Amino acid sequence: MSRTVTFVIPFLDEAENIPVLYEALHRIMADESESAEFLFVDDGSSDKGPAWLEEQAGKDSRIRLVRLSRNFGHQVAISAGLDLARGDAVIIIDADMQDPPETAAAMLEEWRKGAEVVCAVRASRAGEGFLKKLLASAFYRLFRRISKLDVPVDAGDFKLLDRTVVDALRGMRETHRYLRAMTAWAGFKQVSIKYDRCPRHAGTTKYPTWRSVQLAWDGITSFSGAPLRLVSFLGVLCCIGGVVWVIDIVASHYFGEGQVPGWASVMAAVLLMGGAQLLFLGLLGQYLSRTFEESKRRPLYFVKSDSGKGGESEGGSRTE
Ligand code: UDP
Ligand code: MG
Repeated sequence: MSRTVTFVIPFLDEAENIPVLYEALHRIMADESESAEFLFVDDGSSDKGPAWLEEQAGKDSRIRLVRLSRNFGHQVAISAGLDLARGDAVIIIDADMQDPPETAAAMLEEWRKGAEVVCAVRASRAGEGFLKKLLASAFYRLFRRISKLDVPVDAGDFKLLDRTVVDALRGMRETHRYLRAMTAWAGFKQVSIKYDRCPRHAGTTKYPTWRSVQLAWDGITSFSGAPLRLVSFLGVLCCIGGVVWVIDIVASHYFGEGQVPGWASVMAAVLLMGGAQLLFLGLLGQYLSRTFEESKRRPLYFVKSDSGKGGESEGGSRTE
């Protein structure tokens, strides 16, 4: 019996891209020995994408449409796909053709050779703004340093995961999810392959720079206490500075010409320290609020409908 590969495809308003991606995946899987499951996770779309998929699912039993009850965000939509996938391996791929589907063949090749995680690393990133590229490049390097995790530089969520890894990730139920780091944390045999990231086929990004920054911040606070250590370090520096200042005041009182009480310098010190304290309190609050959210232990998402519920996707095919 041939093995099955599930393509987990999270999407939000990608009606123009879905048919193109589906055709490409259909073509690629025709040449592979594994059978396929195309698991489309609708993350709250309001366009015609889900309707097209429903219709297409009648012709191709490999298509499975899972609709979430609202928009939960890309990372949660992928997590839902991982929970529901039936394949012996899962390939996570965006719906907008930025992850070239042809790379799947190379991923499958590595998987057959025994890799449990195959990361697709961006050799180039066409169609992305200068600021996004610069921030991403700096962030990946910083993140590796402070998290001490083997997250490949310039790898997104486009990757193949063996069933063992999928099951490991299914057991990790944290609310703030940063899947590329969670995969690295889980361990397993990881290899990387290079690919050129394409521009979007149609539509606009659902990940503006501020959402990417939010994801990056989630990654840092979920996987590192470095910001808290930095704050403690700055606190110690301020204390030392304060002590030196007091010594200077006392010394100049006895041995120098005495201090002229300076309103401006006092105000400057008060404002600086007040500002720093507020900033650090805010940082502590960030960690605290994350602890609070994790302690609620809510489900990550709700499924509105699942076209493949109860069914078996094994060996599905398209009727022309
Ligand atoms: N996406 C999603 N939910 C969201 C935002 C995005 O499922 O809340 C999907 C989107 O449709 C696409 C993938 O996640 O298939 C990556 O999003 P996008 O292309 O907008 O991000 P970018 O590639 O620009 O970082
Ligand atoms: Mg994209």
